[in-house]
Amino acid sequence: MPHGRVPPPARNLIGGEWLPATSGAVMPMISPIDGQPFAMIAESGPEDVDAAVRAARTALEGDWGRLTAAERGRLMLRLALRIEDEAEALAQLETRDNGKPVAQSRADMTAVARYFEYYGGAADKLHGEVIPFLNGYDAMSMREPHGVTAHIIPWNYPVQIFGRSVGAALAMGNATVTKPAEDACLTILRIGELAAESGFPPGAINIVTGRGMVAGQALSEHPGVDFISFTGSPEVGQAIHIAAARNHIPCTLELGGKSPQIVFDDADLVAAAPVIVNAIVQNGGQTCSAGSRVLIQRGIWERLTTMLAERFATVEASPAEGALLGPLISARQKARVERYIDEADAPLIARGRIAQDAPAAGFYVAPALFGPVDPTSPIAQEEIFGPVLAAIPFDSEAEAIAIANGTEYGLVAGIWTKDGDRQARMARAMRCGQVFINSYGAGGGIELPFGGVRKSGHGREKGFAALYEFSRLKTVVHRFT
Ligand code: NAD
Repeated sequence: MPHGRVPPPARNLIGGEWLPATSGAVMPMISPIDGQPFAMIAESGPEDVDAAVRAARTALEGDWGRLTAAERGRLMLRLALRIEDEAEALAQLETRDNGKPVAQSRADMTAVARYFEYYGGAADKLHGEVIPFLNGYDAMSMREPHGVTAHIIPWNYPVQIFGRSVGAALAMGNATVTKPAEDACLTILRIGELAAESGFPPGAINIVTGRGMVAGQALSEHPGVDFISFTGSPEVGQAIHIAAARNHIPCTLELGGKSPQIVFDDADLVAAAPVIVNAIVQNGGQTCSAGSRVLIQRGIWERLTTMLAERFATVEASPAEGALLGPLISARQKARVERYIDEADAPLIARGRIAQDAPAAGFYVAPALFGPVDPTSPIAQEEIFGPVLAAIPFDSEAEAIAIANGTEYGLVAGIWTKDGDRQARMARAMRCGQVFINSYGAGGGIELPFGGVRKSGHGREKGFAALYEFSRLKTVVHRFT
């Protein structure tokens, strides 16, 4: 069993203090590795959320709100270094909490440190403009924080999503309240501790754990919240959107995906095959930007499906440190993915294995490759959030575009071809937020704006673009004589 220090038991971080839920309620954290409880978190109610929102407001009006942009950035850089110092312990904790192989947890810690470094460095770089206007007037625009920002976060990449969302919000001077997912939230709590040790004033970063339907809903509906950043399922995203509309506040919604990887006859298949498998197996396929459909031009169907099948057959769902595939997050998620596999209306091309030493009570699922899959079938249309890949044949470029754009989602697309004209045409034709050509970054780098269209959500996080989301523009007109 991996180790890693567990943060203060069953406490919320509110106004710089570690407080139990007002009701005293707690809930267990189950490790996906062996299905056993190993820690408790606070099961917070609306009163705890209210305390956190008030603490954030107090911070805005106090020490946090008085800091200059450069001072905020310096604190964030200090936190980035603290995360780097603690990266190994944090990675071990993440693996116990979330189940992902330690090597993947380590990558998450590198990413969250980098988010705080990136946004810390950006805190004093976004500024307004002087706008040519009438004679006798100075007209200018300035960037302001929204105020109190709410961050509702899923379990699949807890710290990466915390880093990209809370990092950008803090850089712009907002005070934050995070509601992490009830399935995996311990590393976020530990980063809250590291932030306090790094010198963040009380109330700049508040973290309240608990159930989505209770604590999450209370936060999304709270009249003291000025902006909501939500990452999670399309269904909850819709509820968040409605809650934001009721309070007349903006929100970013980072939702699901059914992202295609499109492989043309002339592609470098040796380069493509491992990337295609990795993009659906890594993190157990529980990635919004997982490449869950592979569209294969008919001339290379046999060759590429054979190459993919060979790789799939060797993937083992395992608790090993360097495994490509670990357990899924919960018994519920395992049952859901197995149902899709059992009910798939397409031939099974290949199936991986569950490692012999995987604990029987853990949430392991062997990966599955299906094909040819009808583009309208459930496994080609619905987000499974597991290691299940649907292979779909196509003949022409136009057909590939129609299939790729033929779901309700639009998050990421991968294009594999050596033809430069086709690369340019395809990049424009994809109805989604990110396109990779001859690579697949599954979510892309910290520096790259990321987000979806339609059922994949709206707004952009990551990169410099996020700073525009987490701030608002004010125009000031000054008449002089
Ligand atoms: P989820 O929507 O069930 O939960 C996400 C968060 O919302 C959790 O913190 C949960 O407690 C909270 N929540 C649940 N119900 C709520 C409610 N009624 N009001 C307010 N908050 C509520 O999603 P999940 O199953 O934990 O995560 C998987 C989903 O997240 C997938 O659809 C995946 O594609 C998506 N996702 C998207 C991105 C992206 O950037 N686009 C990244 C990661 C995950």
